[in-house]
Amino acid sequence: MPPPVVPTLGIPEDLGIPEDGEAEPKQDLLGLPRDRMATLLEGLIDKPYRIDQIYRALHEHGVDDFGQITTLSKDLRASLQREFTIGLPQEATRHQSADGTVKYLFRLHDGATIETVDIPDGDRRTLCLSSQAGCALACRFCVTGFWGGGRNLTSGEIVAQVLTAKRRDVEGTHGLNLVFMGMGEPLLNLDNLHTALEILLEQISWRRVTVSTAGILPGIEAMAAWPVRPQLAISLHAPDEDRRSEIMPINRKYPLKELLPLLARFPLARKQRITFEYILIRDFNDAKGDADLLAQLLKGLPAKVNLIPLNGDPVLGEEMRSPEPRRVEAFRQRLLERGLMATTRRQRGDDISAACGQLRVPNREPRGFRRSNLRY
Ligand code: SAH
Repeated sequence: MPPPVVPTLGIPEDLGIPEDGEAEPKQDLLGLPRDRMATLLEGLIDKPYRIDQIYRALHEHGVDDFGQITTLSKDLRASLQREFTIGLPQEATRHQSADGTVKYLFRLHDGATIETVDIPDGDRRTLCLSSQAGCALACRFCVTGFWGGGRNLTSGEIVAQVLTAKRRDVEGTHGLNLVFMGMGEPLLNLDNLHTALEILLEQISWRRVTVSTAGILPGIEAMAAWPVRPQLAISLHAPDEDRRSEIMPINRKYPLKELLPLLARFPLARKQRITFEYILIRDFNDAKGDADLLAQLLKGLPAKVNLIPLNGDPVLGEEMRSPEPRRVEAFRQRLLERGLMATTRRQRGDDISAACGQLRVPNREPRGFRRSNLRY
């Protein structure tokens, strides 16, 4: 799988490029873990605790201008303003669903756009984060994939999604869950994901952070070696190689027969499980026999299955449909009978196209959608 293509976006408008033509954009401090920030700012600060003051101002107080950090001297504030930036994205649009879900469209400094979804649930709240502006994997059921690949987000752009959403109305990170289930494939942006997690996992327990992947084997192997790992979710979606390759082209490169043994070796804490997301598509993968195959496939793995009735979208056309709720429940019961833990994901934010697989890239031509490849 080639790396995601960087889209041509024309001349960036707002890079903070000074008049004298120096082309380097200013470094974004939001994407730097504490130790790297300390190294970078060494020459500017008088006392080591200044790093803490700056770090907390950015990540706890959510300042958007160095001038607001009044605990620092005027000179230091001015130097920071001259040399660095706080890369909070511009909120282009915000849609609120009847169920309280909020979908943001953020415009990044170079014009690329991403969506971030904020899903309230009682006194808890889940932020669904993007890791790339677009996605190159072209899964047949996913609208983001339909619109094609985009660039990797920087670590700062990943962290900024949390800050921007948090700034709105929530104090601190109480009850906050983060899921990398927005646009993009997080494990194809591994370094920036890892750096962002270094920052985020200081504030939020790894138990409340989930990275969802279509199964990028080298990425999973790399994650297995991280000292602190978030929860892992695998987008499985089919109970055998053929059907998975049909709807997820990435399965040809990283097939189930290599993915599952790798997952069996993935280090987990006591009682921790890997989540397997399984989209139910009517008459494609929703038969009781498919539940049996799925149970067989996951046998012996510390697994829990999260069933997602397919979210529809005009681009999917008539050929892919969601099963009746009764059929979803029958599938779930069958998994339970086979000894698997299984839940059904409640659909949220559908009326504002914020539901799973509905995030899109505006101003981009859709890629060819080869529906005829599906067996219906
Ligand atoms: N690339 C990563 C992260 C994206 S997560 C991954 O594949 O896991 C997005 C989640 O939404 C995935 O589980 C994806 O499979 C699911 N999804 C995509 N399109 C969907 C649709 N039409 N209906 C329901 N879920 C969908």
